Amino acid sequence: MKMPKKIELANLPTRIDHLDRFSEELGVDIWIKRDDQTGSEISGNKVRKLEFAVKEAIDSGCDYLITCGGIQSNHARATAAVAARLGMGSRLVLRGTERQVAEGNLFLDKMLGATVRFITPEEYSSSRVEIMQEEADKLSVEGHKAYILPEGASNGIGSFGYINAFNEILEQEERMGIEFDAIVATVGSGGTFSGLLYGNEINGNRKDIIGFNIAGTAEGFREIVMGLLEEIGEMTGAGSKLEPGDIKIIDGYPGLGYALSRKEEIDFIRHFSMTEGIILDPVYTGKAMYGLYSEIKNGNLKNYKNILFIHTGGLFGWTEEARSLI
Ligand SMILES: *Cc1c(COP(=O)(O)O)cnc(C)c1O
Repeated sequence: MKMPKKIELANLPTRIDHLDRFSEELGVDIWIKRDDQTGSEISGNKVRKLEFAVKEAIDSGCDYLITCGGIQSNHARATAAVAARLGMGSRLVLRGTERQVAEGNLFLDKMLGATVRFITPEEYSSSRVEIMQEEADKLSVEGHKAYILPEGASNGIGSFGYINAFNEILEQEERMGIEFDAIVATVGSGGTFSGLLYGNEINGNRKDIIGFNIAGTAEGFREIVMGLLEEIGEMTGAGSKLEPGDIKIIDGYPGLGYALSRKEEIDFIRHFSMTEGIILDPVYTGKAMYGLYSEIKNGNLKNYKNILFIHTGGLFGWTEEARSLI
């Protein structure tokens, strides 16, 4: 299998810990992989994808990174941080409007020197790709060369970050003398889940990869994941034999929608924090862990002995709106 090259940005491998009291409460062994600790400014899952994508950017002579996302995008912040760290420039196309006082990820984007262009939700869904290209063209006139990353760095090259993470998990299993029969991850733009799924496939499909979508529908994501698997399979030269029926994404937990929280979700996140001393984020991991908890409480997911949950980060996303619900 062909694996593209990467640069080293993340603190790897990330630790895997057993959740003692949470496991006892649910009656099944649950473990957590701390991908929220891949770094500080570049914390979270996006840096694993950026290790591959930015290598491609550097190799093609780019000196700017352009990407897009929501106003509190963890991916946009990680991209701004990587750009600054490598002496590159960054431009972020964000869905939303300028704030008097920037908080969370937007604050960090500004600290890290990113130029932010705000666009409306309509512009975001209909023409974010064209708008990013427009920014690249402007930079080109100024003598720069920009590399455009899609939302969440969820394309073929970015997904290799989680094929790599899957291999890291296999090594950790060996060292720990344990086998995880299910790996659970949040599905936001699909790259993390697709990388894990592909890693599992090329290693013989020994595990179940379970996703919880935190926006949209499971149906819609199955299509996105199929597209990503095809792209990845072309890049590795090994293809993919997975079909839509093999894609286990559990629907029912987006709640009020992307980046909108319900009181019961925040209450659960607080319960989890007090039980384990680990803080989840309100947009992604809080909803996914709430999904896992609810499914197990409802008597589902019974056939697993050791479940590994990936904490993909996102702590900077605790905005005033989410904090007000506690
Ligand atoms: C982006 C993100 C996810 C979702 O990962 P995708 O690869 O986009 O599906 C999960 N958790 C956090 C904290 C994120 O920032």
